[in-house]
Amino acid sequence: PPFLPFALPEIGDDEIAEVVDALKSGWVTTGPKTKRFEGDFAAWLGDATRGEQLHCVAVNSATAGLHLALEALGIGPGDEVITTTHTFTATAEVVRYLGADVRLVDIDPATLNIDPAAVRAAITPRTKAILPVHYAGLAADMPALLAIAREHGLKVVEDAAHALPTTCGGQLVGTLDSDATVFSFYANKTITTGEGGMLVTRDAAVAQRARTMRLHGMNRDAFDRFTAKVPSWYYEVVAPGFKYNLTDIAAALGLHQLKKAHAFQQRRAAIAAAYDAAFADLPLVLPPQPAAGDRHAWHLYVLRLADDAGIGRDRFIERLFDAGIGCSVHYIPLHLHPYWRDRYALQPGQFPHSQHAYERMLSLPIYTRMSDDDVMRVAQAVRAALR
Ligand SMILES: *Cc1c(COP(=O)(O)O)cnc(C)c1O
Repeated sequence: PPFLPFALPEIGDDEIAEVVDALKSGWVTTGPKTKRFEGDFAAWLGDATRGEQLHCVAVNSATAGLHLALEALGIGPGDEVITTTHTFTATAEVVRYLGADVRLVDIDPATLNIDPAAVRAAITPRTKAILPVHYAGLAADMPALLAIAREHGLKVVEDAAHALPTTCGGQLVGTLDSDATVFSFYANKTITTGEGGMLVTRDAAVAQRARTMRLHGMNRDAFDRFTAKVPSWYYEVVAPGFKYNLTDIAAALGLHQLKKAHAFQQRRAAIAAAYDAAFADLPLVLPPQPAAGDRHAWHLYVLRLADDAGIGRDRFIERLFDAGIGCSVHYIPLHLHPYWRDRYALQPGQFPHSQHAYERMLSLPIYTRMSDDDVMRVAQAVRAALR
């Protein structure tokens, strides 16, 4: 059988037709489709909750969105931002872009999400923000994190790269009481624009600053200037901004991906349930389930080998590759990477839960284009690899 990739996007005829429409329209960069995507995204989040006004700012990556959110919240040199060591480096690197410092903390071994008790213990007079990640698509303990933030006057920016659509206490991530939430539309995420992201906030000033800073710090973007009645050549530069705008070609994909987000999640949840059933009797720690009534986005399906599995993680992955199954590891914790390790003199013993999980974990394929036969093939390969 052919190699089964770890991840594949699902792009339909609707997306392709919309991209062709953008290409033929003559407007290929940020313009009408990006504006529509922002509006649709706000409605999609709002309709599912209280119909509130949310500001959605489309950007060319979640990394860009996280950078803009922290910048708009005034994070800078001398400040500290607390985040999890068990994440992708993008979560933390944006803090360093701003000259602030990262305080990495350990995870809760049950959920693999940032541990609120560890966050509380890491707070110093320099702490300005908490940056939780909804790991694998399971909501972090937001009630506890928001309570800590309120108590200490800290900002909260959610890295929701995995969390579309995830709920927490019945509310969609993106509508919680944090200062900003950032989604990723990277190629392997739950919906994709190739590259892209969305910054969501209730704070009009944060949204305004992010809109300005995503395009060179100019106070009017090209589309505004093109369509407005006042002279189209005039704008003012109010800050040394960035080049983080989403193109209409990418937004064209997002318009249709967003409509399918709930259907995509249902397929991913069905694959996760099939895996859970197939692995129930094996020496594996299965992924944590969401709280009753809540939704897991199932961006990742992360297995951990039990201590009596009789095989190491690296050998296990080799056997799956030999059986034609792509898999991955999420993540090599930040404290093990030379940059983070050396900058903050970090030791594995400071993060025992992340370290323990990392040494035993792997991520199996979970995506909508997998057939039921593909799912069974993966399940059988896992069983065979443990023999
Ligand atoms: C993918 C990812 C990002 C970065 O997203 P981009 O859109 O590629 O910039 C950030 N954080 C986490 C946890 C991710 O998985």
